[in-house]
Amino acid sequence: MTRTYYIKDDIEIKVESYHERKGEPHRFKNKIYMWPDETVWENLENRRNRPHTEWKKEVIPMVMDWLKTNKPNHYETLKDSKWGWRQNCGCSMCPCSPGFVSDNEGYISIHVNFKSK
Ligand SMILES: [Zn+2]
Repeated sequence: MTRTYYIKDDIEIKVESYHERKGEPHRFKNKIYMWPDETVWENLENRRNRPHTEWKKEVIPMVMDWLKTNKPNHYETLKDSKWGWRQNCGCSMCPCSPGFVSDNEGYISIHVNFKSK
């Protein structure tokens, strides 16, 4: 199965602020959350079973291209990151918020809206 992906809207980037937890710096990883074009119900059904190997190969490079053009500072920070899929990326309590986590520490969260066709 071959799909072509394209980024639907602008990519939303948030930079979380440094903070401490119990007096220690709270270590953050840079994160990429993936939002394929789907309904809330589809999201509930699909979020534990994502084609993340394919997304990593197909969509992450598009995100990096987008950053290179639109957010060069973030691109510089992230261009050499290795991205691993984590079901608990955005929520340590439950698998509600999967996403890609970088191997380097940082506070950048990227939300990508995309479609496949
Ligand atoms: Zn949760």
